[in-house]
Order: sequence, then structure tokens, then C-alpha cells
Amino acid sequence: MDDKNDLMEKLVSLSKRRGFVFPSSEIYGGFSAVYDYGPLGAELANNIKAAWWKEMVHEREEIVGLDSSIFMSPKIWEASGHVSGFSDPLTECKVCHTRSRVDHLLEEIDVFADEKMSEDEINKLLDDNKGKVKCPKCGNSDFTPSKSFNLLVKSNLGNFTGDTDADPVYLRGETCQGIYVNYKNVLDSMHVKIPFGIAQIGKAFRNEVTARQFIFRTREFEQMEMQYFVHPDEAISFFKIWKERRMDYYKKLGINMENLRWHEHENLVFYAKAAFDIEYKYPFGWKELEGVHARGDYDLTQHCKHSGQKLEYVDQVKGEKFTPHIVETSVGVGRTMLMVMADAYTEEEVGDDTRVVMKFAKHLAPIKIAVLPLSKKDELIEPARKIFNSLSGTWHTDFDATQSIGKRYRRQDEIGTPYCITVDFDTLEDGAVTVRDRDTMAQERIKIEELIKYFEEKLG
Ligand code: ATP
Repeated sequence: MDDKNDLMEKLVSLSKRRGFVFPSSEIYGGFSAVYDYGPLGAELANNIKAAWWKEMVHEREEIVGLDSSIFMSPKIWEASGHVSGFSDPLTECKVCHTRSRVDHLLEEIDVFADEKMSEDEINKLLDDNKGKVKCPKCGNSDFTPSKSFNLLVKSNLGNFTGDTDADPVYLRGETCQGIYVNYKNVLDSMHVKIPFGIAQIGKAFRNEVTARQFIFRTREFEQMEMQYFVHPDEAISFFKIWKERRMDYYKKLGINMENLRWHEHENLVFYAKAAFDIEYKYPFGWKELEGVHARGDYDLTQHCKHSGQKLEYVDQVKGEKFTPHIVETSVGVGRTMLMVMADAYTEEEVGDDTRVVMKFAKHLAPIKIAVLPLSKKDELIEPARKIFNSLSGTWHTDFDATQSIGKRYRRQDEIGTPYCITVDFDTLEDGAVTVRDRDTMAQERIKIEELIKYFEEKLG
């Protein structure tokens, strides 16, 4: 087994064992391409979302947040082009009947293709590379012709006819449509002036054909998207600014910058002015983490045409009226989480032992502090509880009195807890505790009354 797959297996196993990610519906045999976040995964995901929201909304005067609904008028998906054109090229192995995305199969042999190509173009590439393209499951090379498969997920919400194909309602395929259709509401209610942004975090659903890479590609997932509305003349300069800001942001998340790179789209959709992806070096290769796109005025123009509403911007000072251009940044919570976990995973030799430590940036760590009384005797449990109570209102704190202190340290290392506090019998004499640092394993003695100040400095 090579190192890359080894890391992926270790992450999947740690995720399950330590409560980060569970396969969906496991007691019923599972449910493909959907995952549940366990207690620590929910904390990590919340911290990732909070970091994004702080960066994109709270720290930016000109960006406001939104929480639009998952279900929207189906007319929105017609206007956006999703009903007719949101599809992936699908083929089936004639031997084992595994379905695959043709662009992904071609990518394996370094032939570029994407979902924007026509069915004929894709089929020509598939034919030209007959024999070289292999089924990922059985290794055979006999495929059905590629067919476009629409990714929108349908539902029967509000449909009481019993026929789910009549007047389908869709679960949203991306969160940004909720932003475009609320552009006017935000403009009218918030008195924002161009350039301004609207950001939102929320679930999206896609009938992904192949979803074999853990939480990287799932059929239900969460997006963090920001749409920045600008004057058409300024679109490209803001696009460049957002490219820089977004890459800088990953530095703040503590990601090793050698594992990140830009990828320019080879094949722009007709309305796009520029499109780059930030790629991360996942255990299975360089893959898209986030898209940063200059989308022109396509989105507002489409919704204007289909709704009959004016979605322009009036610059009172310059006496100018125009349809804003949009610069978008869009990233998935699951893909961020997998990146954060892969980047944090570390194995270190300690004596004869190997310690696994998740070196999460402190603000992302699911638990910040663990309080560990050395014995289960009341004389230690009581002061330890008092310490727990004094910290837990400010930082997510764990209390663990089971097993040896060495095992407890290893457990906390494995879930990335930056600090452990040991309460021992000396505490009863000197009113101090031992604080151990996750990364250096250095221990220092701190007075109980100084703990809050100490952690304020360390954790903020
Ligand atoms: P891909 O080419 O990998 O299918 P995409 O280009 O279709 O991705 P976008 O439509 O640009 O993705 O979506 C924006 C972001 O949403 C992606 O960069 C990714 O982080 C996230 N995302 C998209 N699809 C999924 C999915 N099925 N599972 C998890 N995250 C996703």
C-alpha cells in the first residue's frame, strides 16, 4: 500500500474511531455518498464555518450574511441553466456495471475533459482513448457511450399529485442562487453600496455519479459561498484581490502552503470572465478545494429576464445605472475539513511508541483544553471539576478521569486538543496544575488562579 492511500485509510479510521465522521445510516447497511459528522466532527465543522464567517462577514464592513432556504421556486433553476445544463458525463462499465464520470476516467490518463463539453466531444475522446481508459472497479475497458446526467435532486415538496416527475421541485444544487435572488432585498434593506458582498453557508445537494472519496465528494454537502457585486469595469481587479485574500486565508487556517496551488480553468463557460480553483494536495492527488470566479453579469441578467424584475444598480452620485458583475468565492465545508485533517495528521516517534497527533490550528481544534485529574479520588475530582467549570464557559473543555495519564494524553493528542491540565496531589499543596502543550509536549506548572489569563494568551 502506498503512503497516500495509507494516509487516507488512517484518516477514515481515525474519523470513525474518534467521532469525527460516521458513514450515514450505518446500522441499516449504509447510504452511499452521505456522511454524518460525529461529536468531534460537528465541533470541527462548526469551527471551520465560524472562521470563514468571521473572515468573510464580521471582519468586512461591506459584506453581509444571508441564510436562504434550501427549497426555492423551480423557476430559479430554469433561469440559472441548471435544469437544462447542470450535468456530468456518465458512462457504465459493460462488465461490472460500475458507473463513472467520463471526465474523471480521462483525467486518470491525463486527457483533459470537462462537463462543459458536448456529448459528442466527450464521446470522441472516449473513443480516441479506447483501451487506455479503465474501469476503476474491475479494470476492464468496455464502456457504454457517455450520456449527460443531470445533477439536480428532485423532491415532491408541495406536490400532492402522486407524480413526482410532474412539476418537480429541486433541493438546491448550490447556495449562491439564494444570494442572487435576494440581491434586491439586501440592497433595499441594508443600504449597501457597490462594491459589496453577500455571504452564506448552507447545504447543497447533487446527484453525484461517482462519490468515492470520503467527505471530498458527497451528495449532500455544505457550501460557504460569497458573491461580491461590483461595477463591470472593476470586475477583474476585484477578482485578483479576492484571489489573493482567499489564498492568504488558508495561511491563517494553518495549512501548509506547499499543499495548495492555483489551477486556471482550461475551458471557461461562455459568460465567465476568469475562473481559477484553489487546489489542495489531498491524499488521492491535487483536487479542487475552492473556486474563485469572475461570473460577469450572467446571474443577475438571467434572473432579471426570467422574473421580469429589474435587478440593476443605480449609482446616485454618478447618475449611472448598470447590472453589477459578480466575483464569487465558493468552498465546501467537507472538502475544507478533509484538508484540515489531512494537513494536521502527524505521527511522531516518542521513545518506543508512535504518537498520533492532530496538529490543528488552535482555533479549529474541536476541544481546546482537557482537564485530567490524576486520580479518581474525590480530593482531586473536586478541584478538577472547579477548574473545568471555570474554563468551559469560554473554551470547549473536556473532563477525563479514566485510564492512565499517558493514555489520556495520547487520546487528546489524537483529537488535536492543544492543552491538557493535570490535577495531582501536589495541587492540594501548591494550588498549581501541570499544563501540557500538545505540539511540544512541554509541561509547565501554572497557579490555578492564573489559568484564565494563561489561556487567554494562548488561545485568545
Ligand atoms: P467538482 O469539479 O469537484 O465536481 P465543482 O466545480 O462542480 O466541483 P462547484 O460547483 O464550483 O464545484 O462548487 C463549489 C465548491 O463546492 C467546490 O469547490 C467544493 O468545495 C464544493 N463542492 C462541490 N461539489 C461538492 C460535493 N459533491 N461534495 C462536497 N463538496 C462539493
